[in-house]
Amino acid sequence: MHELSIAHNIIEIAISECKKAGYSKINSISIRIGRASGVMTDALLFAFDIAKKDSIAENAVLKYEETPVKGRCRECGTDSTVDDTIFVCCPSCGSYQFELLSGRELDIIEIDVE
Ligand SMILES: [Zn+2]
Repeated sequence: MHELSIAHNIIEIAISECKKAGYSKINSISIRIGRASGVMTDALLFAFDIAKKDSIAENAVLKYEETPVKGRCRECGTDSTVDDTIFVCCPSCGSYQFELLSGRELDIIEIDVE
């Protein structure tokens, strides 16, 4: 399961940041998920609950915000935000020569520790 390894990664990073800062408990981790990252948020939340067990992130809550998919059409040059992340085509001219500029990211934006 793809999401489980992502959840482990997020927790590992959060734990090492937390320890580096001299804290011993993680309350919440905020992440930003691009809608074209391929990550299923429900599966990630589920995996997070499994991955955090018996760690200093045991009681941590995973908060996430989804970022839209933006891209530029190679045919007509229009920059657009698209909803469909599987068959991405240009909303202006319908071309599939649509280059994604953002929406694939998965970033940790905040770790709340104590
Ligand atoms: Zn176009």
